[in-house]
Amino acid sequence: MKKKIAVLGSTGSIGVQALEVIKMNSDKFELEAITGYKNVDLLIKQAREFIPNFVVIADDNSYRKVSDALADLPIKVFGGKESVADIAEMSSIDIVLTAIVGFAGLEPTIKAIKASKTIALANKETLVVAGEYISDLANKSNSVIIPVDSEHSAIFQCLQGEFHNKIEKIYLTASGGPFLNMKKSELANVKSVDALKHPNWDMGDKITIDSATLMNKGLEVIEAKWLFDLNPNQIDVIMHPQSIIHSIVEFEDSSLKAQMGLPDMKVPIQYALSYPNRMKAEFQKFSFMKYPIFTFEQPDLETFRNLSLAYSALNKGGNMPCILNAANEIVVESFLRGNVGFLQMPDVIEQVMNKMNFVGKPGIEDLKITDSETRIYTSEIIKSIN
Ligand code: NAD
Ligand code: MG
Repeated sequence: MKKKIAVLGSTGSIGVQALEVIKMNSDKFELEAITGYKNVDLLIKQAREFIPNFVVIADDNSYRKVSDALADLPIKVFGGKESVADIAEMSSIDIVLTAIVGFAGLEPTIKAIKASKTIALANKETLVVAGEYISDLANKSNSVIIPVDSEHSAIFQCLQGEFHNKIEKIYLTASGGPFLNMKKSELANVKSVDALKHPNWDMGDKITIDSATLMNKGLEVIEAKWLFDLNPNQIDVIMHPQSIIHSIVEFEDSSLKAQMGLPDMKVPIQYALSYPNRMKAEFQKFSFMKYPIFTFEQPDLETFRNLSLAYSALNKGGNMPCILNAANEIVVESFLRGNVGFLQMPDVIEQVMNKMNFVGKPGIEDLKITDSETRIYTSEIIKSIN
């Protein structure tokens, strides 16, 4: 029996690579549903190639264009953001790969978990804003969450056969992005084109900026807390510019297990889809002689303040990680448009974290309110500094 897969956000960086993995393994996987937002032409192209049963265009305005373009095929087309969430719970789907970026991934993930789907989770923001809620829901619904994020996939792989053993701590590795070792004076005037040049990974714009500011690692610390049930002081970040060691688990007996490989997201995507099995693949093989040196450094928390802000949000708990995430989504959009400077981003996020109403035990509705109010307040601050 082929596993039937829904790829939410099929037109993005992870989505496109997921479709490649599905195509390479068409004897094992079948694409059942895809969703996109603005990149209509790519969504239509993917639909014509894979002929999934369901296609959703989240942007209502483009519904007619997509449905007309697919009218000759046996595909059901839906429009609107609610349809993205509705598709995630369709009974024919086995695995939902959540590759939407940002808070928009939360609602569809909730529906997929409630429908007891296996979740291949790329959308880390879901666990950042609602980690406790999502973990409880997954437990109650018997829904398994398999991480796609390379660091978390690494930890998950290191823990195979070890789930009964206590974790002493984990080390999440970080490449440092394009600005590793740069100081504040050099970063004051960098532009989005500079920040978008990641040395090792080719990803969507938002996560690429997050990598340059180290917010991505901060979000990953929070993601790891919920995926692996850890305390914040059990999660360390180390810079590893080669991006070969994807992350490390330390056990109580001082033994370390690391997962390694060339930086290629298709590897963790395939693992999440094929888990608990591994499948033969033609991905490029690692050569030790091309990487004779692995290096490690402490993160520079004074220059890249976002990582400290993420730890503060995690330690504070409640709706604070949701505030951090929403403020970050707005500052990143503004940075991409040239409205905020690179070093202003953590300043704005910190200001927002200090100002928003704190809720200690937020329900899902509280989190939605926090998200929208934080977006409004962050945009106001950015307007006032321009
Ligand atoms: P991307 O920007 O390339 O793609 C995002 C996808 O989400 C697109 O298909 C887009 O159409 C869709 N989308 C955007 N806004 C939407 C909305 N409001 N409603 C519905 N759909 C919407 O992003 P990406 O780099 O593929 O990242 C996707 C997720 O995976 C992010 O959460 C990111 O942190 C995570 N992730 C990405 C990588 C990577 O290598 N790209 C690695 C690890 C984790
Ligand atoms: Mg990652």
